[in-house]
Amino acid sequence: MSEYRSDSAALADLAATWKSAYVHVPFCRRRCPYCDFAIVDESNDGSLDHETYVDALVTEVGMESDFGPLDAVNFGGGTPSRLDPKQLRRVIDALTSRFGLKSDVEMSLEVNPEDWTDEFGRGLSEAGFTRVSVGAQSFDSGVLEALGRLHTVEMIDATVQGLRACGIRSVGIDLIFGHPSETGRSWTRTVEQAMEIGVDHISTYSLTVETGTKLSRDIAAGAPAPDDDVQADRYQQFEEISQSHGFVRYEISNHAKPGQVCRYNLATWSHGEYVAFGIAAHDHRWGVRYRNHQRVERYLEAVATGDRPRLGVEYLSEQEQERDRLMLGLRLAAGTPLTPTARRFAASDAGMAMVEAGILEIGAGRMRVVVPMMTDAVIREALSVSAADC
Ligand code: SF4
Repeated sequence: MSEYRSDSAALADLAATWKSAYVHVPFCRRRCPYCDFAIVDESNDGSLDHETYVDALVTEVGMESDFGPLDAVNFGGGTPSRLDPKQLRRVIDALTSRFGLKSDVEMSLEVNPEDWTDEFGRGLSEAGFTRVSVGAQSFDSGVLEALGRLHTVEMIDATVQGLRACGIRSVGIDLIFGHPSETGRSWTRTVEQAMEIGVDHISTYSLTVETGTKLSRDIAAGAPAPDDDVQADRYQQFEEISQSHGFVRYEISNHAKPGQVCRYNLATWSHGEYVAFGIAAHDHRWGVRYRNHQRVERYLEAVATGDRPRLGVEYLSEQEQERDRLMLGLRLAAGTPLTPTARRFAASDAGMAMVEAGILEIGAGRMRVVVPMMTDAVIREALSVSAADC
């Protein structure tokens, strides 16, 4: 993989052939005020024993039909670092015996700094993890507090240095930008600290206001809301600083040093196939999308009775699969192949206007968004044109 540039079309095409597995670990010490993910908030409900959930995951993996061998395995959440390395290892062993792993498999997980101990890091290394993403979010203590995070800036440093000392091959961080408590200066400092700390990969997300969250209630009660223009500026700031330090954007939210692209990320955005386990997890294989139960009790009940814990299934037509590929591929720096659906969008009034405005670029058999902050707007137009065709 290191022979490819992170944002090359050849790498994106290769990634579309990779097979991945996603494992959802729902436990969080407490719910962050902006988060609407499917989690178990342990500050409210500590009744679910981690081992019980891991038992169910292992059983669910054993129910899966043939797929693999796997190129990438990713533990996401929730907070995967709420499990101990032995529990993570049990799930890896189940995946290995059910699907097999490629010899260069990427094994990744998200770690929250408040969970870090050197012993935990050694356990990750022994379990075979090759990539860890640290949920840093910000290097500004005021912003961390406003985001409701439980860690300090010192804990981020300790986690990143500890992961290096444990020999984890690829160490990354996640950052959130655009909270109203953040200033332009504090964001610049955060990005500069992210560069200084010496990571290989950075995922950046703008703060979004999701319905039903504490953040949305606070805003409804008069608290300041994130501002789209400010967020666009912060993204631009990040792009400039990170590029000058050798990072390459390969997907709108993901930037990597050369040879450090996250396989799992690139595979999923390139429309690669994956199996998924745990609550609220969803698969994508062979033109079929399955969704698991969101509620832990329903999930555990189904697994205990020997059923796949499915909440729903969608069988996608060729055209629907092409729409998915277009929607995902427009997020990639390498763009998306010019499939018939992509060509129809390119030839539409909206598509041509975007090309004319220098937002969209077409060439070498692909279509690319060249103004990253316009990606959502382009995807909306592309989907409305392709929906009108159906
Ligand atoms: S730690 Fe992550 S998954 Fe858990 S509540 Fe906070 S944002 Fe959501």
